[in-house]
Amino acid sequence: MRDFDYVAPTSLQQAVELLAKPAGQARPLAGGTDLIDHVRNGRLSPDVLVDIKKIPELNLLEAGPNGLRLGAAVNCATIAAHQAVQAQYTALVDSCQIIGGVQIQSRASVGGNMCNSGPAADSTPSVIALGGRCVITGAQGTREVAAEDFCTGPGKNVLKPGELLVELRFPAPAPHTGSHYRRFIPRNEMDIAVVGIGVSVTLDDTLKIITAARIALGAVGPTPILATAAAQALIGQPATDETYQKAVPLAREVATPINDMRGTKDYRIHLVGVLLVRSLQAAVARAKGECPNYKPGH
Ligand SMILES: Cc1cc2nc3c(=O)[nH]c(=O)nc-3n(C[C@H](O)[C@H](O)[C@H](O)COP(=O)(O)OP(=O)(O)OC[C@H]3O[C@@H](n4cnc5c(N)ncnc54)[C@H](O)[C@@H]3O)c2cc1C
Repeated sequence: MRDFDYVAPTSLQQAVELLAKPAGQARPLAGGTDLIDHVRNGRLSPDVLVDIKKIPELNLLEAGPNGLRLGAAVNCATIAAHQAVQAQYTALVDSCQIIGGVQIQSRASVGGNMCNSGPAADSTPSVIALGGRCVITGAQGTREVAAEDFCTGPGKNVLKPGELLVELRFPAPAPHTGSHYRRFIPRNEMDIAVVGIGVSVTLDDTLKIITAARIALGAVGPTPILATAAAQALIGQPATDETYQKAVPLAREVATPINDMRGTKDYRIHLVGVLLVRSLQAAVARAKGECPNYKPGH
């Protein structure tokens, strides 16, 4: 592997200054579970890795009446173990519990998963379904981008050279809201999603009618996709399988998968429907306060 320098700033200001080097020379390092592989294989050749794990803003994990603030460098194991995240942002827990195994989850961050911008990234559909917003800082100041607008292509996103994803902000879920992320992989764990679906559903006080929904599809396009029309088709409808089936063709319509070694286009389009119905069933069960029988990886 090519030599590089390593620096670990303890303030956001220092990190921004270090990253202001010409494009590609300095690179943020969170868990390193993607980055080290890219450097080892020569896909990236930074002169300096800027470790962002010692910066307080990137380690924030706070949930309250105004929602959830998740620092971009917080690792998956910490997120999945957080009580408020478990109670209110369950799709995020589902994602964090299936990214790699225990060792990877103890290093890998949701921020890094998003910034790596793989179409099959397992946390991005959950972040989108939960209405996440990305707070980005660089030498030119701070800006916010909706999670669904963050990725722009395979391995590409809206970050300009030198910019850092600092945190993800999520609105507090309304009462009777449940969320879920589910993926299909050919084996039970340690594989890349053939299709992944993140959903969030809110029910009315009778727990029978859907009042709000968000659906995000992964691995069926160059970026994760917010399936707006499919979610819209659920609103005002009873929370039943018949309703979920109405969303299926609308979700399939926005999916643009490719053929690859893990599945054909047709197979992926088929899976979108199967996983969407199962994800909605699980999210609705959670919205009702029931614990759906879900085994990660299935
Ligand atoms: C064995 C193994 C299994 C895996 N399994 C899965 C899986 O099941 N599902 C899945 O989705 N992924 C999986 N991955 C990929 C990887 O673990 C995840 O994408 C992980 O979330 C990346 O986070 P990280 O903190 O390690 O990022 P890093 O590797 O540190 O960074 C990834 C990229 O994002 C940039 N970056 C990181 N943080 C920021 C920031 N805050 N601002 C700007 N740029 C930033 C880095 O410069 C780099 O380009 C696996 C990887 C391995 C090695």
